[in-house]
Amino acid sequence: MNNTDRVFNFSAGPSMLPLEVLEQAAKEMTNYGGSGQSIMEMSHRSKEFGSVIEAAEQNLREIMNIPKNYKVLFVQGGGTLQFAMIPINLFRKSKKADYIVTGSWAKKAAKEAKKFGEVNIIASSEETTFSYIPEVKKEQFTKDADYVHITFNNTIYGTKYPYIPDTGDIPLVADMSSCILSEEVDVSKFGLIYAGAQKNVGPAGVVIVIVREDLLGYAPADAPTYLDYNTHADNGSMYNTPPTWGIYMAGEVFKHIKKLGGVAALEKINKEKAKKLYDYIDSSSLYNCPVEEKDRSLMNVVFVTGNTDLDKKFTEAAKKEGLVNLGGHRSIGGMRASIYNAMPMEGVDILIEFMKKFESENK
Ligand SMILES: *Cc1c(COP(=O)(O)O)cnc(C)c1O
Repeated sequence: MNNTDRVFNFSAGPSMLPLEVLEQAAKEMTNYGGSGQSIMEMSHRSKEFGSVIEAAEQNLREIMNIPKNYKVLFVQGGGTLQFAMIPINLFRKSKKADYIVTGSWAKKAAKEAKKFGEVNIIASSEETTFSYIPEVKKEQFTKDADYVHITFNNTIYGTKYPYIPDTGDIPLVADMSSCILSEEVDVSKFGLIYAGAQKNVGPAGVVIVIVREDLLGYAPADAPTYLDYNTHADNGSMYNTPPTWGIYMAGEVFKHIKKLGGVAALEKINKEKAKKLYDYIDSSSLYNCPVEEKDRSLMNVVFVTGNTDLDKKFTEAAKKEGLVNLGGHRSIGGMRASIYNAMPMEGVDILIEFMKKFESENK
């Protein structure tokens, strides 16, 4: 396999994976570790797969510096099923939760939680089409809320939290689907972190849940067994057949991150990649980034020309150059360059070169 037939894929998800990891997986595709089988064909109860899932968890704990009193779970159902599993498991006293609404995913999470209890939208940036992250103070949270939910990086609108809200004793829950492992975070500030794998970790089909142990054990008795976090915590994520291939791939990505120098090293590169792109957009007379500077995402860079026909021409012309999936989310249009961990600096450089050329040709 070589690199020359690959495109720079700016998709918001599923998205690029490190070429080195893909090549390693290809090598092991038909015969994993001398077992004579593919990971996909292997019993999840086998010794080989046992080592795969154990190493994946250990390496994730290491690169995220996850404290001992947190469980790491590998589950299915996407970020979307977490929108329901969170209220089912964390509504344990008042059945009230506070949600900060910073985009479509946050809105969906809040809507789902309403099926299970009282949801208070304590802040929202919807009035400006989610162009910023509201600043929320400790006094604003509902005193007896069971948890506070935030979407740490807003994939569609291109914002991210520049701070971790101080919720006092109320557990903070964060959707990190599109930013997990992109920058260092202090896990101990959160009650629960969740992330679908397909944006920054691996193939679709696995969801990572990192949950503080004292929050487990509150799912009601009539909750479906699979939806109780304890089911997964008590069984090492192997109550039923886990998504074995996805866990293997995620594990390979964790190893790769360790080799690169950990999340701190990725954060440094991610900041350089994002700064280059934002600096160019801000300096250009054709493109404009609608997001408030302090809240700009490191992962999803949203920009527009202000002319929908020109936006369309841009994404089509870019595609011809091997720069694919630059269209903005179908709900807002414009452009979006998702530059997750696996997007090399070279991809950003080539994108900027293309943007300059397009600008000079479309004045
Ligand atoms: C993509 C995404 C989701 C939804 O994930 P699915 O795996 O498709 O259910 C949820 N939250 C955020 C922030 C996302 O980017």
